[in-house]
Amino acid sequence: MYTCGPTVYDYAHIGNFRAFLFEDLLKRWLEYHGYKVTHVMNLTDVDDKTIKGSQKQKIRLEEYTAHYTNAFYEDIKALNIKLADHYPKATSHIAEMVALVKTLIQKGYAYKSQDGSIYYAIGKFRDYGKLSHIKVAELQVGARVKTDEYTKEEAQDFALWKAWTREDGDVFWETELGKGRPGWHIECSAMSMRYLGETFDIHCGGVDNMFPHHENEIAQSESATGKIFVNYWLHNEHLLVEGRKMAKKFGNFYTLRDLLGKDYEPIAIRYLLLSTHYRAQLNFTFEALDAAGAAVERLRSFVRRLLYAQGNGSGGKVVELLSKVQEGFGGAMDDDLNVSVALAALFDFVREVNVLLEAGEVSRTEANDIDALMKRFDGVLGVIGEVAPQDVLSKEAEELIEKREKARKAKDWATADALRMRLSEMGVVLEDTAQGVRWRLVKKA
Ligand SMILES: [Zn+2]
Repeated sequence: MYTCGPTVYDYAHIGNFRAFLFEDLLKRWLEYHGYKVTHVMNLTDVDDKTIKGSQKQKIRLEEYTAHYTNAFYEDIKALNIKLADHYPKATSHIAEMVALVKTLIQKGYAYKSQDGSIYYAIGKFRDYGKLSHIKVAELQVGARVKTDEYTKEEAQDFALWKAWTREDGDVFWETELGKGRPGWHIECSAMSMRYLGETFDIHCGGVDNMFPHHENEIAQSESATGKIFVNYWLHNEHLLVEGRKMAKKFGNFYTLRDLLGKDYEPIAIRYLLLSTHYRAQLNFTFEALDAAGAAVERLRSFVRRLLYAQGNGSGGKVVELLSKVQEGFGGAMDDDLNVSVALAALFDFVREVNVLLEAGEVSRTEANDIDALMKRFDGVLGVIGEVAPQDVLSKEAEELIEKREKARKAKDWATADALRMRLSEMGVVLEDTAQGVRWRLVKKA
């Protein structure tokens, strides 16, 4: 699996992380099914944007990109994104790119322009446009675009190798192709094939990468090898923030660091960004972020509650619920990663088991089975983590203790006893002393 990585010219924003989290979910779901996934994510550390950025700060390109590369690793760790097997840097794979461009020249798909740059001739590749379904107008064939990013209407021969110009400063390589640097698109073709072979299974990225980036990757790779480049392409939809496109000029542009600076929990951000189906637009709002935090907390307190279950057994009800949720969650995830439906099934399960827990019907063994399944699901979701027994009273327990005190004062012993039982199932043991009620928490037996 190859996923287009960050261009390390700035801190990654939450739209980038939506893509990385969708890819993380996909990988974890494949692993849940027992697939062994080899995951490669490139780091674009030389392109138009990184060169411009380093020049603005008047530091060397390596120094500039190293800062944002380290920041990227910190961010994915905070979001509990599993590490890829390889993070190839473009600047460490110039030889592979040069070799690929040479093959394209030999096969007649690439040519040198007057300024020494090398272009891919899109008119030579019959399948050009097959991913993004664009029709290449005849007029545009032969016209050239040198920048890395452009729109569908500007589809033209694109740069594989950019001859050195004054603006590039000290960023260049002396190669058989001349003095210059690679274009962005050839980087991904060269690095993906270097680690995964000429044909590999899955390639992902944001929908904005479909054209021109992925279209060009296909053209370069398939015309060089004569083989299918990728078996499955998956693209995630855009992220909106408060209902509109995220942009600095709208004041709704957020990096992960911006949100952590406002004291949001990274796992709540993770939950929010992965809980919408990847092919649907996701509208990021702070209200939804609060709700995501609450959803994570609900899952954690459910798992914590399981630690204290000491009931007599549900008489088969737990077994039934376990099989129902596996079907509901698994069926939805198998259906093109329909995570929102999967989460709905999970929360139904939590609600139904909570009813049994409240009635004291869940035995120790049943609780362990539920816990094991929650761990398996969390291997996919990555939001619950290790849940420790409580050392402070939950709000719920506090309220129950208060209610019990009232019941005792009213000499309603039946209610008081029932409340004591409920608290004990939550791991809260009460002692009535002359000074009033005392509580202590017991750990799982
Ligand atoms: Zn790429």
